[in-house]
Amino acid sequence: GKGIAVFTSGGDSFRISSSNVLQGMNAAVRAVVRMGLYVGARVFFIREGYQGMVDGGDAICEASWSSVSGIIHKGGTVIGSARCKDFRERSGRLKAAKNLINNGITNLCVIGGDGSLTGANLFKDDWPALLQILVKNGEITEEQSLKHSHLNIVGMVGSIDNDFCGTDMTIGTDSALHRIMEAVDAIAATAYSHQRCFILEVMGRHCGYLALVAGLTSEADYIFIPEYPPPQNWEDKLCDKLQQERAMGQRLNIIIVAEGAIDQQGQPISAEDVRKVIVNKLGMDTRITVLGHVQRGGAPSAFDRLLGCRMGAEAVLTLMEATPESEPCVVSLDGNQTVRVPLVGCVLKTQAVARAMHDHQWEEAVKMRGRS
Ligand code: ADP
Repeated sequence: GKGIAVFTSGGDSFRISSSNVLQGMNAAVRAVVRMGLYVGARVFFIREGYQGMVDGGDAICEASWSSVSGIIHKGGTVIGSARCKDFRERSGRLKAAKNLINNGITNLCVIGGDGSLTGANLFKDDWPALLQILVKNGEITEEQSLKHSHLNIVGMVGSIDNDFCGTDMTIGTDSALHRIMEAVDAIAATAYSHQRCFILEVMGRHCGYLALVAGLTSEADYIFIPEYPPPQNWEDKLCDKLQQERAMGQRLNIIIVAEGAIDQQGQPISAEDVRKVIVNKLGMDTRITVLGHVQRGGAPSAFDRLLGCRMGAEAVLTLMEATPESEPCVVSLDGNQTVRVPLVGCVLKTQAVARAMHDHQWEEAVKMRGRS
């Protein structure tokens, strides 16, 4: 059977963050393994993303049906995720290619963000040249090179930010929303008792999706997101709104600030900026909570488990049907349908949106992002 390898990849740094070690990845890994075995392929784990591919040895190991039992409910990724400098260099990719060929792997299933998907695409383009060098150096035989002449790749997008163009939902977003809602509910109880105003900072990089949806689902009074900077006089508008709510008998106020929130000039608006305005103008008891990694912790939601299952199964089918001519694709969600979309187009669009946000072309960015 075909050799398929699955790996989870990407960095994890504290805010402004790469948010891609998250709930739902294990469901996707599990689905890749089981669907792969079901269709008669050999499936391998690669631990620690591209680093494991470069290192080889124990980092690449064959998966069995039972090796993915009991992981669907766990957050994070059981096969590890990492950033890998070596893979950006030819020398690293040569090692990676040799390790794959030695294991009979020519199909890769990558779960990560746009960086990881870009890396996979470049690897595919570089593959024929890598094989030539390996043959020339006597590291693989001509016969091995012919047998493994094409590398097929398929991507699945993991990000709690829901910031990827080409899918309506990224794996991990729904669970992160659950975490945020739980946190709001917990804090709201005490805030209510003490008549407090509380400000919650949530993740999202340059995408306000988490903040917006968290705000809608937790009755926030005010939301700051990067896509729609608040009006020039937001300080007054915010205070008017809070006072209005209090006058109507509301005992607490909830304000959600996306980590990438900015004003009309593109200057960051932090939770602390908002707190100062409220304290100075209204003298209200105001507290800040920065959720940070809590948003990526805990058990994956039913939606993310199911999304991982569906994506993983579709990813395997994509690889099984791949021909030397087929373009790499990303498995994604369109409405409630699992679909395949061209990887390169999605990555370029996602990067274009990020650039537009960076240049304060908000409307342009939102338009480009479209449904996702
Ligand atoms: P994310 O997938 O979350 O966007 P990164 O941008 O950190 O995460 O990328 C993850 C890894 O993918 C990198 O550490 C590197 O090994 C690989 N990668 C990313 N971009 C490239 C590239 N242009 N060429 C080769 N490898 C890359």
